[in-house]
Amino acid sequence: MTSLRESREGAEALAEDPSQESETDAEWRAQLTPQQYEILRQQGTERPGSSPLLNEHRKGIFACAGCDLPLFSSETKFESGTGWPSFYQPLENAVGKTEDRTLGMLRTEIHCRRCGGHLGHVFDDGPKPTGLRYCMDGFALVFHPATPSAT
Ligand SMILES: [Zn+2]
Repeated sequence: MTSLRESREGAEALAEDPSQESETDAEWRAQLTPQQYEILRQQGTERPGSSPLLNEHRKGIFACAGCDLPLFSSETKFESGTGWPSFYQPLENAVGKTEDRTLGMLRTEIHCRRCGGHLGHVFDDGPKPTGLRYCMDGFALVFHPATPSAT
């Protein structure tokens, strides 16, 4: 039912019950900004063009705003023109996928593998080499610039 070959395996990976998370809802509310909370914990979507990370072009790592797990490398970021930070590939074992049938369409939802926080969706119209477009909410991410290598 989906053109994303990987999604079947991803759906199984998400079989865990999200309520088993260590952080309670109240803890998330205290820890996150209201905007981060709406995206990460309530599957919200930021307004296109609103994330400062859209124009983040330094080398570094984009991590989960909920638990700081590294999710994407700047190496895989590209300009999609959608108004959301876009990547063609996540870091290994960083994200999970699940089917999202809201809004009357079938999309593949992407979430942080560690804290389960909602990050965005993946579509199959991305650039090479993967052909995937991970369309992320910038407010679900925090950027850590690569530190200049010490001598
Ligand atoms: Zn996380």
